[in-house]
Amino acid sequence: MPPRTAVFFHAHPDDEALLTAGTMAMLAAEGHRVVLVVATAGERGLAEMRPGEALGETRMKELYASAAALGCARVECLGYGDSGLSPKGGIAEERPDNAFIDADTEKAATALADILREERADLLSIYDPAGGYGHPDHVQVHRVGRRAAEIAGTEIVLEATVNRDPLVKLLKAAGKVYRFPPEFDVRTFESAYSSSETITHRVNVRRYARQKRAAMEAHASQATGGDTDRTLAVMLKVPGPLYRLVFGTEWFVRRDLPPGARLRHPFDRWPK
Ligand SMILES: [Zn+2]
Repeated sequence: MPPRTAVFFHAHPDDEALLTAGTMAMLAAEGHRVVLVVATAGERGLAEMRPGEALGETRMKELYASAAALGCARVECLGYGDSGLSPKGGIAEERPDNAFIDADTEKAATALADILREERADLLSIYDPAGGYGHPDHVQVHRVGRRAAEIAGTEIVLEATVNRDPLVKLLKAAGKVYRFPPEFDVRTFESAYSSSETITHRVNVRRYARQKRAAMEAHASQATGGDTDRTLAVMLKVPGPLYRLVFGTEWFVRRDLPPGARLRHPFDRWPK
């Protein structure tokens, strides 16, 4: 396969580590050009330090370290404000003037399309329409990413997601022996991410577990601060062999392929 170019578009620094790091490391190791673009610097992320400019700077540094661990050739930030989350999980009322969710879709898409054109990108990775678990900035990544690919004429658009079926099964089984706090509703996971039958790509990234872990560790501000049950902090405690098993697969949906397509590699052709 001749080297190709893949652009991974994410909302905040650390999203790449959780969702697509293994695939990025794999493509880079295979000699492809991997470019990482974030919409925001994640300056309203959870951290012990005061949110704002200083946190944005720290998180961009962490993003560069993560990108280096994965073998990225280029990192860009579109410079939008992190829209944050309301305490209940929805859209935050107080948000910066240039919040990504308030961005004009066409304008933001054009900025991303400029990078896609400059890179002659063969592939763009965005999020599923639900934005995974529904963070407003993640839903916006889907909208802006779709439009950018249209403008630039990017051939392959992959929606990074998680296979929610085993996740829901696991949570339901856990619910029988463990009482979840009242605000935790397993049903919210029934509509988050994607169901097994809609997933077109299952990428085995076990060989790149070391790089994926290094990417996660690079985002120290999101793993060590404040409350203890943060996603990254929890994940980093998982021992190596179990980690490879649990985080050994990354999932994508390609909408122009039949949902039954079972591809193993982002650049696989269909029909096979
Ligand atoms: Zn995010």
